[in-house]
Amino acid sequence: MIAEVIVQSNVKNLNRIFDYKIPSEYDGREAELIGARVSIPFGRMKSLEEGFIVNIKEDTEYEVKEIARVEEKYLDKNKLDLSNWMSKRYFCNLADCFKLMLPPGTTSKLPQNRVKTKNLNFVSLKKDIDEIEKDIDSGKLKSPKQIRTLKFLIENGDSLVSDIEMFAESSRAIVNTLCKNGYTEIIEKKMERDPFESKNIEPTQKLELNAEQENAYNVICNSMEDLLFSEFLIFGVTGSGKTEIYLQLIEKALNEEKSSILLVPEISLTPQTVNRFIARFGKDKIAVLHSKLSVGERYDQWHKINDGKAKIIIGARSAIFAPVKNLGIIIIDEEHDSSYKSEMYPRYNAKEVARYIARQKNIPLVLGSATPDLETFYRAKNDDIVLLELKKRANDAVLPKIDIVDLREELAKGNKSMISTRLYEEIEKNLQEKKQTILYLNRRGFSTFVMCRNCGYTVKCKNCNINLTYHSNTNKLKCHYCGYEEKLVTVCPNCGSKQIRYFGTGTQKLEYEINKIFPNASTIRLDVDTVTKKNSHEQILEKFKNENIDILIGTQMVVKGHHFPNVTLVGVIAADGSLNIDDFRANEKTFQILTQVAGRAGRDKETGRVIIQTYNPDNFSIECAKKHDYNLFYNTEIRMRKQLKYPPFCDIILIGLTSNKEKEVIKISEDIHNYLKNRVLKENIGIILYKAVPSPIDRIKNKYRWRILIKCKFSDDIISLINDTIDKYYSLNSKNVRITIDLNPENMMSL
Ligand code: ADP
Ligand code: ZN
Ligand code: ZN
Repeated sequence: MIAEVIVQSNVKNLNRIFDYKIPSEYDGREAELIGARVSIPFGRMKSLEEGFIVNIKEDTEYEVKEIARVEEKYLDKNKLDLSNWMSKRYFCNLADCFKLMLPPGTTSKLPQNRVKTKNLNFVSLKKDIDEIEKDIDSGKLKSPKQIRTLKFLIENGDSLVSDIEMFAESSRAIVNTLCKNGYTEIIEKKMERDPFESKNIEPTQKLELNAEQENAYNVICNSMEDLLFSEFLIFGVTGSGKTEIYLQLIEKALNEEKSSILLVPEISLTPQTVNRFIARFGKDKIAVLHSKLSVGERYDQWHKINDGKAKIIIGARSAIFAPVKNLGIIIIDEEHDSSYKSEMYPRYNAKEVARYIARQKNIPLVLGSATPDLETFYRAKNDDIVLLELKKRANDAVLPKIDIVDLREELAKGNKSMISTRLYEEIEKNLQEKKQTILYLNRRGFSTFVMCRNCGYTVKCKNCNINLTYHSNTNKLKCHYCGYEEKLVTVCPNCGSKQIRYFGTGTQKLEYEINKIFPNASTIRLDVDTVTKKNSHEQILEKFKNENIDILIGTQMVVKGHHFPNVTLVGVIAADGSLNIDDFRANEKTFQILTQVAGRAGRDKETGRVIIQTYNPDNFSIECAKKHDYNLFYNTEIRMRKQLKYPPFCDIILIGLTSNKEKEVIKISEDIHNYLKNRVLKENIGIILYKAVPSPIDRIKNKYRWRILIKCKFSDDIISLINDTIDKYYSLNSKNVRITIDLNPENMMSL
């Protein structure tokens, strides 16, 4: 018998089937091998390559080699089907889809008993991935062990030496050599704690559901019993008791010996979140999967699921691929969150994958949000999704009162500070009453750009077409895209003038100003600059809560999922940041973030106050957030989307092209555009094709970025068109240009 094998490779031309002879010892049970990982001789390669059996057949017309060894089997029919579907939809290789479903760290033979270690030295890549790959391709790097180690790090991020030894079959000596040659470095990192370290978690009992909750719960339970696929949207304001419903649905599944997957946004996957589930179900049945765990820990969690011990899986996007047994329900919390869409190859959308899996297994898919994704709500309105509403907060806390301050008037009154008179008074009041305040500003750093008053020159990153941000603690200008840093400029490099000024504001400057205005108030800042190796996101929030610090200042990190009973005031320093981005979702993102950040205020007995400062007080997304009126927001926004033809009224495909050679990227982009244009004209294909243009950020890390935008209705015809386009790209002289295809990107700036 013959096996059809997919070779593990991300080279596009190898994304096809190769035939291999099945060793005779499998006579009669060949069908069991479908989905198995195999080692195979391949091409002229001396070492064995890795592959996956995707099908079995009687015969082949080719002269074929025999499979050298059959390894373990982690893929079943469902996973193969899912991979097939994904590879078509997201234009990626099958093998790269398989990879998402294998144990973390899988490269070669897997050790059975992993030894835990307390070593805190992480090995981290020092060189750019592109550069490393270049050195590998050019043969500059020869040692297979070194190459294996680097590839492992590229795939799995910073790793413990022990994990590298185990999974990449490398050694400490190899790591040392790589460090000496500048490829890697050793960094001390606080080992992310055992996801279950938390000591005394008080067990909780299930709460008696209120009428709205009970209705939602019953509707979903009925569907679970019918063993049919159905999709639900629990649309409930922050604090309306969505999580309690999830807990009880999971309990129901558990009572029937079924597993559950709960996806949450990466950023809100904190011990606080996980503890609520441990408190109800104990830790033995729970597995947690997210990117902050080391590979070894992810490996352990993965096997806890695969062995059927963990029946409740809580995780970020990629946990949707967990090897669960007997899945009963999938729940996606904060379903509007953009982190469910991968911005790395394979660029899949976990919500779509979840829907596919739920259909395969005939189970319910439950989405929950206070500010549903417009596209989800549209589907609910059109009866694709069952809408379940929770209109009031579960513990009877009232929604906060939101006021808008017009910063233009403030300026007219001569107040140039970041804090309006109104916000000043409210903070003052909170300080006197010993209540806590959160100030939100979606810009980090001190000043967001540096400009010469004399000639208008702005200081930009030398690798990216992006203004540098001033950071006061290091007294340096920093690029937020590539990490490039340079010393402060005092003389204009363009005209020699000394009229260099700093404009714009970031969280650092906000903290500085607050400390000046309120010298007696204690403050703490939360943004990627303060979340360092020593202070985790979680620790900063715990400190804010436990030490009753007066004011928390932060970026969107402060927005998600936390419950601070003593916070009664939230200030949004500038609501305009997310409005001015070049993205059709700008209004939606603004509405969501304002609603979420406002939801942090007054979650207990006392009514919260929210002050939103803005230069656009008449913008409808700000007005709707003020009124807590999602429906009004939806009706206004959906009309605009329809008029301008944006999702959900079409699908968007972005073709991104990057290269460090500007002329080549322009040439290839235009060639591809012409190819598409000819096909569309000749075959009368119903898409809207836009011209090839430079991306919104047209240079990052010295790579020039161009893109082609297509609006269409995704279909098999479109799949063929795009695949032909990719073939066309390979047929051009495109060695120095990289192509990326993204279906329905969440972030229009990403390509
Ligand atoms: P959400 O997930 O919608 O933000 P939560 O489930 O976290 O809401 O509930 C908010 C608060 O209300 C929590 O403190 C929770 O314990 C409480 N709560 C939820 N459901 C009930 C209920 N049925 N009775 C009493 N309190 C409840
Ligand atoms: Zn100048
Ligand atoms: Zn840069």
